[in-house]
Amino acid sequence: MRVWATAVGAFSRLRPRAVRMSCGVLHHMSTSTVENVVIVGTGCAGLTAAIYTGRANLSPLVLEGPLPGGQLTTTSEVENFPGFPTGVDGFQLMQNLREQATKFGARFEQALVTSVNFSSMPRKLVAGDRVILAKTVIVATGASPRMTGIPGEKELYGGKGVTTCATCDGAFYKKMDVAVIGGGDSAAEEALFLTRFASKVYLVHRRDSLRASKIMADRATSHPKIVCVWDSVPLAVEGVGAGAVSGLKIKNVKTGAESVLPVKGIFVAIGHVPNTGPFAAVLDTDEGGYFKPAAGSQVRTNVPGVYVAGDCADHVYRQAITAAGMGCAAAIETERWLAEHGG
Ligand code: NAP
Repeated sequence: MRVWATAVGAFSRLRPRAVRMSCGVLHHMSTSTVENVVIVGTGCAGLTAAIYTGRANLSPLVLEGPLPGGQLTTTSEVENFPGFPTGVDGFQLMQNLREQATKFGARFEQALVTSVNFSSMPRKLVAGDRVILAKTVIVATGASPRMTGIPGEKELYGGKGVTTCATCDGAFYKKMDVAVIGGGDSAAEEALFLTRFASKVYLVHRRDSLRASKIMADRATSHPKIVCVWDSVPLAVEGVGAGAVSGLKIKNVKTGAESVLPVKGIFVAIGHVPNTGPFAAVLDTDEGGYFKPAAGSQVRTNVPGVYVAGDCADHVYRQAITAAGMGCAAAIETERWLAEHGG
């Protein structure tokens, strides 16, 4: 296992699950000086915000959660991040961003925010027995792909055949058979993208019609390389013993028949869970649970001086580069807010 730049080896590389809400008793806890900006999250959005606010001399405090570096640290090669014509290792890319942010004065701390109080200034974030005070906050907590939880999925996740990102990993499955699990727009999109590389794409859905929008569903179901496997739920990922995916065991829920799809890659596309944690109590969210930016902005929220960036506020694009763009926008908004409000 590769170890992150600081002593985060002890942190689990598993996906962060929802952060628990708790009601902190703020006046009994230790407080610190008032930070210019606290950035929560160290994925592409958080680290880009750290680079920009660091370079603006704001000395950002960056809080690292359970998956330092975010989702990209669990992928292998990233071939579509601009500026890397021969591709870049996802873990290395995040290390580079962190190094760049540190160079500009960003400070990193491991801290899991469990509750917040944004009703007055300075803003308060509770992490363990510590209360962090901040003039501005950038929430970049990311989203976690929803997983099926079937046997073998966890063991063969990330570089061993189970993945959640066709855009990231599809090119590794040239002329191979793969399976996509899910029936929404993501599953249809992933399946269609995979047809560029794979010989055959099984689209495994638990019902007999796709949830995806009509246009996406029509495209997927009529594609000659896509084979829809209806009324079927995944039971197990095969190949754990060999360390690589060799098949997907499924069950037809109508007939009860079990079978194995002989695939080398399995793309889980059953939705995402935004990591909004305790922030959801004070920041607006949409019906899917994602942060909902204020009208006319991608990153401003309903709380002045508090911004959101990356996958926790974006269920449409969900790319490293779009998250980085949002992190940049949130940082620029932060600088402006501090300039206007005496930062
Ligand atoms: P989604 O719409 O929630 O679809 C999730 C799919 O996974 C559903 O088909 C669901 O089955 C299935 N599923 C859920 N849990 C499962 C489980 N445990 N085992 C097997 N199957 C399971 O999620 P999404 O596709 O990620 O889309 C999220 C949002 O982003 C949507 O609003 C979508 O329109 C949008 N989006 C848009 C685009 C685009 O416009 N290009 C692309 C991607 C996403 P059921 O249908 O039976 O519930």
